[in-house]
Amino acid sequence: MPNYIDLHTHSTASDGIYSPTELLQRAKSIGLRILALTDHDTTGGLDEAAHAAAALDIDFIPGIEINTDIAGGEVHVLGYFPEYERPAFQAVLKVLRDARERRGQRMVELLNEQGINVSWERVRAIAEGAVGRPHVAKALLEAGYVQTIGEAFDKYIGTGCYAYVPRYRLTPEDAVHLIASANGLPVMAHPVELPGLAELRNWLPGLKEAGMVGLETYYGPYTTEDEQALRALADEYDLIPTGGTDFHGPGIHPTPLGGRYVPYEAVERLKAAAAQRRGKTPPTFELPPPVQEK
Ligand code: AMP
Ligand code: FE
Ligand code: FE
Ligand code: ZN
Repeated sequence: MPNYIDLHTHSTASDGIYSPTELLQRAKSIGLRILALTDHDTTGGLDEAAHAAAALDIDFIPGIEINTDIAGGEVHVLGYFPEYERPAFQAVLKVLRDARERRGQRMVELLNEQGINVSWERVRAIAEGAVGRPHVAKALLEAGYVQTIGEAFDKYIGTGCYAYVPRYRLTPEDAVHLIASANGLPVMAHPVELPGLAELRNWLPGLKEAGMVGLETYYGPYTTEDEQALRALADEYDLIPTGGTDFHGPGIHPTPLGGRYVPYEAVERLKAAAAQRRGKTPPTFELPPPVQEK
């Protein structure tokens, strides 16, 4: 039987190529039955996606992905079934997105200082929703400075490159707390990249203590060995093993939409956990103060 679940996708509300409606139409055309939209730092695509899903008879799961920084790179935290209309939650997301605007402008300035001619106006126009590095990469590609999006990250905007500017700094624990503050279900995204399988065991008790309930296990390009190791850790720490492709559209991540098997158990367990939280008074979240940007 072909795959019918994908729990990790992006739309034009953040750095995906397809609008929420187009994404759902593509999901339908390849036979997906259950889809989650997990845009970076925004729930701006969720209403449209839910609407499109209802018309196409797809079971839609609202989600979000919060990027956080640790020494040496990023850890991403997915959040499923957040009660995203909560004003306090939206207020925090707005702060994160506003910081992305300033950060995008700063990255363009740093590029300009090195004689690279891309404009903030163009980057802003490419981004339909929350601005991210992929939009800067696209502007660099359009202007002919690189041949691929990956090359833009390698040469200009990857962590440690001269035009790289960090986002509003959150720790993985902050992201877990933020998602929990909307009764969402925090899940550690693609953990093999960072912190890495060897380190992961040291992270799980603290993140679980913070409120994490899942571990992304069936992720786009992960090998069978990765999957087995993550599944064993998820079972050991009683975390829900989730999965998906991280589909952004062609050319950004390697796995096509629906291109990874995700067991239905993941959906069942997420839904059961969400039902237990829905409508309860969530813990409040306090945004850590911003740190000085370069
Ligand atoms: P930002 O949140 O603005 O820092 O952008 C991070 C996003 O850029 C990630 O979520 C990925 O979608 C994308 N990304 C990161 N590294 C690469 C890469 N080497 N090639 C293509 N896309 C990347
Ligand atoms: Fe992305
Ligand atoms: Fe991610
Ligand atoms: Zn993602």
